[in-house]
Amino acid sequence: MSLTAQIQAVRGMNDVLPAEIGLWQRLEAVARELLEAYGYSEIRVPVVEHTELFKRAIGEYTDVVEKEMYTFVDQGGESLTLRPEATAGIVRAVIGNGMLRGQRHKLWCTGPLFRHEKPQKGRFRQFHQIDVEAIGFAGPDLDAELIALTARLWRRLELSRVSLQLNSLGTADARRAYRVRLADYFKAHEPRLDADSRRRLQGNPLRILDSKNPDMQELVANAPVLTEHLDAESRAHFDALCAALDSLGVRYRINPRLVRGLDYYSRTVFEWVSDALGSQDAVCAGGRYDGLIGQLGGEATPAMGFALGVERTVELLRQASRQPDVPHPHVYVIVNGERAAAQSLKVVESLRDALPQLRFELSLGGGNFKSQFRRADRSGAELALVMGDEELGRGAAALKPLRQDAGQSECPLGELPERILAALAAERGATHTSGGTGEATGESIGG
Ligand code: ATP
Ligand code: MG
Repeated sequence: MSLTAQIQAVRGMNDVLPAEIGLWQRLEAVARELLEAYGYSEIRVPVVEHTELFKRAIGEYTDVVEKEMYTFVDQGGESLTLRPEATAGIVRAVIGNGMLRGQRHKLWCTGPLFRHEKPQKGRFRQFHQIDVEAIGFAGPDLDAELIALTARLWRRLELSRVSLQLNSLGTADARRAYRVRLADYFKAHEPRLDADSRRRLQGNPLRILDSKNPDMQELVANAPVLTEHLDAESRAHFDALCAALDSLGVRYRINPRLVRGLDYYSRTVFEWVSDALGSQDAVCAGGRYDGLIGQLGGEATPAMGFALGVERTVELLRQASRQPDVPHPHVYVIVNGERAAAQSLKVVESLRDALPQLRFELSLGGGNFKSQFRRADRSGAELALVMGDEELGRGAAALKPLRQDAGQSECPLGELPERILAALAAERGATHTSGGTGEATGESIGG
């Protein structure tokens, strides 16, 4: 591998730079607050699991397991996989830590996922999700609450170009009967199947419905639909969910082709899509997985979850230009002279003790007076604290407002904390009435 190849990021894996991080943090903060308000607790699980876990949970005949997993053998000879999705690991943790025992859990987590897909707009090899799981809830009231939570999240983020698609996959039994009908249909059209679909016809014909191959779409569109083969209980569950969403005013479209890419789903599945994202249009997707916990060796427990794609949601926020303010320092500390250079760090550290609510930026590395003032202006700081040898000789420093035309005033070192607060308050008052930007952060500095 050449040196330049070594210093490039891995294809499909992105850096999130400081200029972009604001939207990520905003999304995380809004989601965290909302999830807590609905009673969800954060859980953190490893990024690496035994390969077998994903094979058993996700299903052998899925795109993810067949061709997208980052699987490797570790030094001890074990086959491990970078998680391609979060549900399997969370369920493994809940079972393994003895958390089931008839108890109910509302859990969420966030972090990176890994899939060896073809990188393109909105599709990466390392991507991030906010993953939400409700374990131990059988009734459609949970389905409705979970979907209402996602609808509220879009409202809080002020994103309107999203719409909800809904379907029911029925129970495993109902799906088995449907599978036979579907296999008959695709067998009758076998010459038109692509290689993937032929393999799936043997393994799991349902997966053919999830094909992304444009040449397959017509065949898929004419296939029999599952919704007509629902068992009575799944039908009642789905009807109750639809009625609840109607009563909440959450709009949806029933899409009988929505089968989702992972095998573990049963009954309700849903997907939020956006017309603002191009072909990678799903921002948030999930469903019920009543059989998964039993299948992985836990006591049979109904559950439902969803995952929100962070990159795609951030892209929607970016388009809506909901760029939060980059936090600027409140006080920029300018250092002039040798004695000042020697003392400034200590003075600023004690100011950080006294005023923990404020952001200080110390002009590290010094430089001439003029260039330091330029840096102070560029930093967006509201106030400069000038520490010069001359003032220090008198046990003082100088304060200068940066956003209005005011001179600097000298202040004894011992009075700096109060004087800084007063100067910031005065400057905010002045810029506020003169229509400046001083109030942009809207934060309180009173302490
Ligand atoms: P898609 O249909 O886009 O492939 P999926 O059905 O594979 O999505 P899930 O496994 O349910 O998606 O993941 C939930 C969400 O995670 C998706 O709706 C999407 O927003 C996001 N996501 C999935 N795969 C990727 C990826 N490779 N890059 C970026 N985001 C992704
Ligand atoms: Mg996918």
